[in-house]
Amino acid sequence: MSFVKDSVNRTPIVDTVFAIVDLAKKAKEKLGDDAVVDAVIGSLYTEDGKLATLDTVFDTLKNLDDSRLAKYAVSFTGNPDFQKDAIDWVLDGNSNLYKEVIATPGGTGAVGMSIENCLEPGQTLIIPEIAWGSYALMAQMNNLNVARYSLFEGDHFNMASFKQTCQDVMKAQDRLVIIINDPCHNPTGYSMSQEEWKEIIAFLNECSKTHAVVLINDIAYIDFSYRGRYAKEYFTCFDEISDNVAVIVAFSLSKSMTSYGLRCGAAIILARTSAAVEELKTVFEKSARATWSNINNGAMETFSTIMEGRKEDYIAEKQKYVDLLKKRSDLFINQAREAGLKHYPYKEGFFVTLSMDNETRDAFHQALMDEQIYTVKVNNGIRVAICSMPLKKIDGLAARMKKILDQVEAAA
Ligand code: PLP
Repeated sequence: MSFVKDSVNRTPIVDTVFAIVDLAKKAKEKLGDDAVVDAVIGSLYTEDGKLATLDTVFDTLKNLDDSRLAKYAVSFTGNPDFQKDAIDWVLDGNSNLYKEVIATPGGTGAVGMSIENCLEPGQTLIIPEIAWGSYALMAQMNNLNVARYSLFEGDHFNMASFKQTCQDVMKAQDRLVIIINDPCHNPTGYSMSQEEWKEIIAFLNECSKTHAVVLINDIAYIDFSYRGRYAKEYFTCFDEISDNVAVIVAFSLSKSMTSYGLRCGAAIILARTSAAVEELKTVFEKSARATWSNINNGAMETFSTIMEGRKEDYIAEKQKYVDLLKKRSDLFINQAREAGLKHYPYKEGFFVTLSMDNETRDAFHQALMDEQIYTVKVNNGIRVAICSMPLKKIDGLAARMKKILDQVEAAA
């Protein structure tokens, strides 16, 4: 006898991150902080090893009246001022399409809700070959298959693989639902060029002549792009979509506001016709009401209060961390180049990912841990969380890693 429905997959989650977080923690307790390199934690940390939290955000939150923290949101789709502020902040004037917003519990809520409502069980979701693990889990929980496009050809986006994957899926179903995690891809740190985006949109328009197309653009890390507001200019490419394409931009306050646990984000729906936007909004609203009901009012009010009164303070404070992240990535990437340590094309973002096949990865990951260097295994690579490592820990790390990799390869 079983208590859960027959169709659900019962295999427990193998959490590759939290298991290693625990090992790194135990190593630090035993050997002391200095003896251990913890390149696991995927949140932004200060140089003193503390979780980075923006004062602009938490001062604003703590100054809200208790009643505003306690109350329900104004609507199941989010507070109207939050919706407007999310559009203004995220799109920054770079979109002429019809738009609607549904507040969600983080980017997870936005991506999950889109997948659940745009594909039938048994259909296929298209995701990158190296990607945030939750995409595949969301597919599994909705009884969907996944097709993965290879991300890179040399140092640029693998357009041929992307197109081929879409064409293959189109043979079997009437729609395409695709995730692109750009800019600042997790975990590679790639960001696509405007030209690459234009080519993708032109291709999706072709696909849309016979198939409905939903593009989920996961922008979880966009506010840590090294290009500031210019990182948002690619949204103008979406203005060229055809009537049979919809874009859902999955926005998250987790990184943007350093407020991971407040669980707030948004699904921003973009389309050429108001009817298309309304259809998605209607279904998303019902889905929201049936699952999480409404979103944390304090988190939405914090965001709106900042956007409407302290935006410049917020941008200036955040920029200090963007600069710190850039310093960390410059140091690691330059030293990796000097040492000959190969990684996937990195432009910006929280992680750098070393490139190798899965067999080498497994041996290397263990060899690194034997030397008290803790990282995360990803498909065909090792993720190095530069976001949480102080500069003094990054300095010299690439050369140490290369030496260990050489030993692993020599022993193979
Ligand atoms: N998308 C990517 C690629 C992520 O790495 C994460 C978090 O790690 C998210 C979305 C969603 O985060 P949250 O649900 O906290 O907004």
